[in-house]
This record gives sequence, structure tokens and C-alpha cells, in this order.
Amino acid sequence: MKMKLFILSLVVTLLMTACTGGAKENEADRESHIQTYLKESKFPDIEIETEVGEYDDYKYAIHFPRTKQPEINQQIKSFITKHKTDFLNKIKNLQPEKGNFSELLLDYNITHLSDNLLSIVFSSSVHLAGENSTNYVHALNFDRKQGKQIKLEHLLADDSSLQKIAEISQDKVMQDAKVMKVTDETRLNNGTVPKLKNYNTYSFSNNSMDIHFEEKQIGPKSLGNYKVSIPLNDLKNIIKTSYIESLELSIDNETKILSNTTSIDQDHNKQTTLDPGGKYVALTFDDGPHKELTPYILSVLKKHKARATFYVLGNRVEYYPDIVKRAFDEGHEIGSHSWSHPKLTSLSQSELLKQMNETSNMIAKITGKAPATTRPPYGAFDNTVQKAINGPIVNWSVDTLDWKHKNKELVKKIAIENTTNGSIILMHDIQQATAQALDDIIKELSAQGYQFVTVSELLELEDNPKKHAGQVFMNRKSS
Ligand code: ZN
Repeated sequence: MKMKLFILSLVVTLLMTACTGGAKENEADRESHIQTYLKESKFPDIEIETEVGEYDDYKYAIHFPRTKQPEINQQIKSFITKHKTDFLNKIKNLQPEKGNFSELLLDYNITHLSDNLLSIVFSSSVHLAGENSTNYVHALNFDRKQGKQIKLEHLLADDSSLQKIAEISQDKVMQDAKVMKVTDETRLNNGTVPKLKNYNTYSFSNNSMDIHFEEKQIGPKSLGNYKVSIPLNDLKNIIKTSYIESLELSIDNETKILSNTTSIDQDHNKQTTLDPGGKYVALTFDDGPHKELTPYILSVLKKHKARATFYVLGNRVEYYPDIVKRAFDEGHEIGSHSWSHPKLTSLSQSELLKQMNETSNMIAKITGKAPATTRPPYGAFDNTVQKAINGPIVNWSVDTLDWKHKNKELVKKIAIENTTNGSIILMHDIQQATAQALDDIIKELSAQGYQFVTVSELLELEDNPKKHAGQVFMNRKSS
């Protein structure tokens, strides 16, 4: 709550600064954009929070929802904190070789949201340097009226309920040839006997209750996490009537993004041809969009008629499609930074393609244009990643370390002192320090004769006018 107030007051201060700069229309503009966003967002009552940390021997990306109910937020936060602490404890004594690092990726899905209930399914992958990843699944279910978690034992109608859920689940698992081919009887029995610990990772979707079995619970590791869906109709007399009624009453929260088809903006395909003799710099913003900071950054860019590139995360775009649309409409480039910020080099081919394709499709649905350039999370890529990504891979030549210092003056200093012609500057639009520093950075670099262009425009200055597929750029000169 304190944090939220802080961010709000910061944004108000920032907006006031923008207004005194003669950009009063921006506020109305921003208002109308927020109004549209509220209509289009997947879950209007819920925000997505992202924390990214990049240290030499470990890195993490953690995503979690923030609701309008502080008591629910607190329980989500304590789950997140515990998960992160467990990871840090596991890696404490590891000494990874140079270039290798441990990684935690924690993402979530809201599988059910209604007036009474909220179900969140977290999936995490923990990669300890030098070992394979382990995948975990966790679910938090809340009674929204009371702000309390609903444990499996609260749901059960009577003493035989757990037995019945186990029987239905066992039947479903045994009908699945994919499981039966790889598992053995002992493992299957141990993993599905009617004990609370076997079934307490459950969630609701809009018409079923899902039981999540952990990796190795009912089969070998290769099976991964496994989900059994039990239709609501089969749950009568097994779970308490009040919950069945809540689920039946729930409003279907279909995403509205899909219905909001955008016509392809032809003008956008025309790139400005730059004078090869000019001085150019590409400002890039990763890990967004952010509900308050990205619109503020857009207003600063607009004031200076500067163009930039936003390397967005698909899972955040899903929450703030309107902000992405605004950035695109105002002439900025929307690039892909993957769906949920994993280290791409530790993913399987299918996971890698899923991360990239889902993000591209989401961006294309909103802007009418698939991203032309990609920035891999943590800047990590290899041959496989290069082959899987369409178009150039774009890293950076100036790293402002805004996420680490969280200091406006330092962001400014690093950006200004290190920029040369053709630099690609790395910043994050989820960082307040960056939003605060941007106006000064643009003013100073403009005074030095720089023009602010998108990454694609910068790359067009290269000798090869084609798409640069698979090439890696850190600044104007390809490396
Ligand atoms: Zn990032």
C-alpha cells in the first residue's frame, strides 16, 4: 500500500513537471488512453508486477498479480518472498563458471476471477548453474469476500470427498496414453493416493476444478507438471455447494484483446531514411509496459519529438495493450523481449518458440505489425536462439544499470557520458529512476547534436539494407 502511494505521488509529481513544460494536452491524452486501457485489459481489477534481477552468478524474473485488496496482496507477496528466498538459499554455495549462472523464472496465470473467487496458478522454473532446470507449480485460491485463502480441506463437502476426487483423477490419468507409456505403477499409486498433499495444488477455471501434479509426482521428470481437469458437474456433492454456486455464477472474463482487431497501419512500414552523416542514438526500454511509467516516458518522448524502441514482455502486454498501442501510434518501435523473461538458451526448442511466437502474435494483434527486432532477456543467446528468432537480435552498447542503482542522477550520468554515434542505450520503463532521468538525458544529448531514432532505423544505416536476420547488434556497427 505504501509502495502504491509512493508510485502514485511520484507519477503526480512527474506529470506536474511535464505540464509546466507546456505539455498540458498530454494529461488529457493520457487520461483517455487509460480509459481505453481499462476497457481492453485482460483483468481490469488486477495489475501485473515484475521484478528482474541480474547478478553475475544468478538472475531472476518474477511476475505476480496485484489486486485491489491489500490482504490478498500480502498473502501473494509472502508466497513470492518465500519462493525467492528458497532459490537464494539453494544457490548460496554454488560457484558457477564464468558465463554460467543460476536462474529463477516465476510466472503466473489467473485461471479464474469472479466476485467471490480468485485462482492464481504460478509456474516456476529453477535452474541451478551446471544442472538441469526443475519446474514447479503452485496455486493460490482466494475467497475475495473474506480476503482469505481457500485450502483444499475447506472445499471438501464431507469425509469421502477427497477419496472421490482421487478416484476421478486416477481415472483421467489412466486414460491418458501419454502418461501410461512413461510411468510405473508404484509412482502412479504414490502420487495419487487420497492424501491432502497429493491434491492440495488445485485451482479453478471457469467451468472446472484443476488438480496439478508436480514434476515427478505421477511419472518421470520428462512428463513435467501434469494437470487433471474435473468438470463442475462432476463435483456436486464433492465440494461444498456454496463454492459450486459461486463458480456457476461467475462472469466469464474473456479477454477482449482478440475482438479489438487493429487495421494494419501502412504508414508505419515506411521508415524515415536517415542521413548517414548524422549523429544518432537509439533509446531502448525493456521489461514493460508499465501502467504509470510507460505513459509518462511516452509523454517525455513526445515533448522532444524523440523516437525510441520498447522491448516488451508478452505477459505484461496482455495487461496493458492500450499502452503498447499508444507507443506504436506515436511512432515508436515495439520489439520483443519474450513472453516472461526466461534465459532463452536454457529452454527447449518448443518452449523457445512458444516464448517468441506468443509475444509476436500478441504485439501483432494490438499494433497490426509483428516485432521486427528482438532483445533476448539478459542479452543471452546462442546459435539455436539466433536461428529461432526472425530478424536481428539487438543488445546494447550503453547499460544504464537503472534497475540496480535506482538513481536518477546515475542513470543520467551513465547514459550521457557513454553515448557515441550509433549507441544503443539500455534502460527499463519499469524503473522510476529512468522515467525521472529521461527528460535531462534527451535535453543533453540533443544539445550535443544527437537525434533519437528507433533501433530498426539505426540498423538501416548499415551497409546491408536487408533484414539482418540472425545478426547481433550492440550498436550501429554490427558485431
Ligand atoms: Zn529484461
